[in-house]
Amino acid sequence: MENLLALTLADETPVETEGEGATFRWQWWGRGLLELTPFEESTRSLVLSAGVHGNETAPVEIVDLLLRALFRGDIPLRCRVLVVLGNPVALANNKRYLNSDINRMFGGRAAQFAPCEETERVLVLEKAVSDFYAAAGEDRWHLDLHTAIRASYHVRFGVLPQREQPWDESFLHWLGDAGLEALVFHQSPGGTFTHFTCEHFGALACTLELGKALPFGHNDLTRFAPTHLALRAFLSGIEPEAHTEPVERYRVVQQITRRSEAFRLHMAAHTLNFTPFRHGILLAEDGEDRYEVQKTTEYVLFPNPSVAFGLRAGLMLEKIT
Ligand code: ZN
Repeated sequence: MENLLALTLADETPVETEGEGATFRWQWWGRGLLELTPFEESTRSLVLSAGVHGNETAPVEIVDLLLRALFRGDIPLRCRVLVVLGNPVALANNKRYLNSDINRMFGGRAAQFAPCEETERVLVLEKAVSDFYAAAGEDRWHLDLHTAIRASYHVRFGVLPQREQPWDESFLHWLGDAGLEALVFHQSPGGTFTHFTCEHFGALACTLELGKALPFGHNDLTRFAPTHLALRAFLSGIEPEAHTEPVERYRVVQQITRRSEAFRLHMAAHTLNFTPFRHGILLAEDGEDRYEVQKTTEYVLFPNPSVAFGLRAGLMLEKIT
């Protein structure tokens, strides 16, 4: 079962669907879904997901390396884990998605999309994490690993879902120790996987953006070393090496939404994530709607003028001081 990735890409059912590793029992739940339960009692449960976007392969390779290390017995397992390869069909085709972006569909939003591979898959994922957290204690984590489409002023950063209660500072620290240079805090609910696990199961959830998307075999995994090492340590119940650089914090202040054919995003195609814009600058237009910078300075995240109507064409952030 250390071959979860290969099985998932080939859409094969393993001969054995459960068994034991050196320090854990494992159970295959279906395509791209593997539960690991440590022999040692643990109160901590982690959903570790990658490949929610099928062209974001480096995080999938990291998860593959972690599984191999666990199955070889190189590292012990000290927490419950559900490994999720989010969108297997898209992964096998090296596409972000086949029909629609699965990471906009969680929390019942699949009904807003035409039925397709992704609207089916999102229900499988929602059920899987629901079953997994049903047997969990209060210490629930969800780390959803991605890479971004464009280059960024912050090479690695995290995006956290909206949440009523304040975030646990030790969780935010861990994210810094895992090599994230910046954290972005959503202020309203959304259709992402991490919003879903945070809202419905109270998970400490973060979408980790770990660099630029490249095909399988073209990733320089040394660039992902801090995150890889922190995850290895986490699985074994060890604190990661402390990270001394400060982590910048941002909150989302506005969302730019593409609503019609008339939509124009007034940014160069190569605009980096976290590029600053000054107060009053026109960011985008959509017929009558105008998006301007309202704060003294706002920073753009995920600008993308070619999304489907009704979806996010960019987020604007302000720094939290
Ligand atoms: Zn992604």
